[in-house]
Amino acid sequence: MIPFLNLKSVNAELRTELLDACARVIDSGWYIGGNELAAFEQEFAAYCSTTHCIGVANGLDALTLTLRAWLELGRLQEGDEVIVPANTYIATLLAITENHLKPVLVEPDEGSFNLSHAAVAAAITPRTKAIIPVHLYGRLAQMPELLDLASEHQLLVLEDAAQGHGASLSGRKAGNWGDAAGFSFYPGKNLGALGDAGAITTSDDELAETLRALRNYGSHEKYRNLFQGVNSRLDEIQAAILRVKLQHLDRQTEQRRRIARCYLDLIEHPAVTLPAWGEEQQHVWHLFVVLSKQREQLQQQLTRSGIQTLIHYPIAPHRQNAYPELGHLQLPITERLHDEVLSLPMDPSMTLEQAHEVAQAINNATL
Ligand SMILES: *Cc1c(COP(=O)(O)O)cnc(C)c1O
Repeated sequence: MIPFLNLKSVNAELRTELLDACARVIDSGWYIGGNELAAFEQEFAAYCSTTHCIGVANGLDALTLTLRAWLELGRLQEGDEVIVPANTYIATLLAITENHLKPVLVEPDEGSFNLSHAAVAAAITPRTKAIIPVHLYGRLAQMPELLDLASEHQLLVLEDAAQGHGASLSGRKAGNWGDAAGFSFYPGKNLGALGDAGAITTSDDELAETLRALRNYGSHEKYRNLFQGVNSRLDEIQAAILRVKLQHLDRQTEQRRRIARCYLDLIEHPAVTLPAWGEEQQHVWHLFVVLSKQREQLQQQLTRSGIQTLIHYPIAPHRQNAYPELGHLQLPITERLHDEVLSLPMDPSMTLEQAHEVAQAINNATL
């Protein structure tokens, strides 16, 4: 049996270090907003080469609170249009609508699954005030082109980096391209806690200060409240765990790359399309997603061979009951992708023999 992602074995490799980190927190007597959080924020900001990292409770909060901070700072107004890829995970949209901003769904580029510069340019109106590029599946969006557009039209850029820890282009990492970036440390993400956690990275001092208040009831100083904030905190114990896991991230990314290379070299089936392979050095392969018009048969046959696959995502956000106001949209590329995508096992604790086995099973599939 080859699982899609064996988190138990990923974390078992780090068991001693993780237990030491937990013991350190338990013995410290300090469980919220202490040294572990401060140290993780510093280490993750250094990893992304930004001035600030602000830990929050989860990735959705990281995105939601950043937009909220821009509203508080007067850089956005309710009703402003925010451009977002139509094929993203629904959390990206939830962050927009939670803030009474208007999501403008843009079709992705079929090869990279990410926002294309041309489609974004076509969607810009006088009411557009921000773009949220998503580094979907671990591949950096077309950031240089998108930043050019943003500066031309004075748009804020918020990276949804929940799937892109460590992805880079010309040495510049995800989290360090936009005005700010939201990260998730959900257990299954490339950098995953043992529970919920998230963070924002930015080099904007004013934004960072606003976010530090917003996550803490709107308060900078005890019992003084500048904003109607929320409680969105990254616990000491998760921060301590993330500090351990950050030290192993690049090594795990290398193993993801070896697995991806194995799939790319070996999978050869006329009914299966491999993901575009260009800037392979930068891709962090959160997911390895193939396309097939016979996706259901392919998935069933792989299941019968003991190979677990998943679909990211089966239903596009504009087709969800949650968004009846988007139901009229015609987004044929997005809809086709949702019908054809299949995510193969991708796990840093997986062996190359297992990757060979997956590739063989695909090549032998009768579609
Ligand atoms: C996981 C994810 C989120 C949300 O992160 P949580 O920590 O689960 O709230 C947002 N955007 C994308 C693209 C994600 O993959």
